Amino acid sequence: MDFENSRKRMVDSQLVERGIKNERVLFVFLNIPRHEFVAPELRGSAYDDRPLPIGSGQTISQPYMAALMTELLELTDKMKVLELGTGSGYQASILGALAREVYSVERIAGLAETAAGTLYRLGIKNVHIKIADGSIGLEEFQPYDAIMVTAGAPRVPQALLDQLKDGGRLVIPVGNRFSQELKCLRKKGGQIVETKSCGCVFVPLLGEQGWSVDNE
Ligand code: SAM
Repeated sequence: MDFENSRKRMVDSQLVERGIKNERVLFVFLNIPRHEFVAPELRGSAYDDRPLPIGSGQTISQPYMAALMTELLELTDKMKVLELGTGSGYQASILGALAREVYSVERIAGLAETAAGTLYRLGIKNVHIKIADGSIGLEEFQPYDAIMVTAGAPRVPQALLDQLKDGGRLVIPVGNRFSQELKCLRKKGGQIVETKSCGCVFVPLLGEQGWSVDNE
């Protein structure tokens, strides 16, 4: 399989054509090997325009959604970023290529371990994976310049707003369990400024400030 060529086609037809403009974001999507983050039997579909299963009932997000959420954060290489929902580790590695340090939290230990193994294999050293309930953020390394939630929440967890630096951005899908709206929130002078972006569908954020784990 010519993965490099598939990746180029993905960037042109799925990202550029739909309006992703940030050159750094496009460069990173052109270079991170998405096929390394899925099971061998799914590698041929790794650059398709859709989410793919990664085990434990979870998914690696559609490339366009990952790029849109990344672009909304307006990252620089000086930033410390928190991602909630490591999944395969693909999005975390994208963030790692654009920021100084990334902390990524996953509640399913098996997924976190596989993702950590993939990052190690690819030589990515500035992404740190933690196994925990990310619906309450990650107190230990706060405040963060940017926070990305890659699972659907019933509301914006207060803990995430508290752990965001002034001037920082939070991107999070909020809605019901089956469909959400992608929200981009900016903390400015202690106030939260909200801009809504588009409809989306994510697996649920389960935990203390997410959906109840009992209904999993
Ligand atoms: N960003 C991932 C990637 O690049 O593969 C895709 C994330 S997947 C759509 C959502 C992930 O969020 C799942 O792996 C799920 O287990 C995780 N998740 C759900 N609730 C969580 C929580 N409270 N804390 C941490 N991870 C959670």
